[in-house]
Amino acid sequence: MAYDPNNIFAKILRGEAPSFKVYEDDKTLAFMDVMPQADGHILVIPKFPAESLFDLDPDYMAAVALTTQKLAPAVKRAFKAPGIMVAQLNGAEAGQTVFHLHMHIIPRFNGVDMKLHARQLADFELLKQHAERIKAEIK
Ligand code: 5GP
Repeated sequence: MAYDPNNIFAKILRGEAPSFKVYEDDKTLAFMDVMPQADGHILVIPKFPAESLFDLDPDYMAAVALTTQKLAPAVKRAFKAPGIMVAQLNGAEAGQTVFHLHMHIIPRFNGVDMKLHARQLADFELLKQHAERIKAEIK
């Protein structure tokens, strides 16, 4: 499949669609997942047109990994989460639904199941507050 420049994350990168931004640098952007599987679920994306791991420039893959490593502890602190899941899906068969590479960073707690994937829109005011909580913990 060819990269679709009109996918929702490409639109967020171009500022054509809104997002609750958590972090940005020259190669990556991170924002709240709008249908979170747990409170504090964020996404890290490269500023590079790649559907998946298989077509992402290695420098941008490194940048995504570094941003993930920077933000996962901030999410952990902000939500006092004992565990943090990092996930990245490649291809519809793997469950990918937005075809611009992204890392999921999801807080996990003992005995708390994750909500269903990409299913229920969160309250926007709550997402805004969660973004602020995470931003305050970025070191
Ligand atoms: P995937 O299934 O491709 O691994 O994950 C896509 C993620 O993007 C899902 O967790 C879904 O909730 C999230 N998502 C889908 N549309 C939007 C959107 O318009 N804005 C944001 N912030 N997240 C989205």
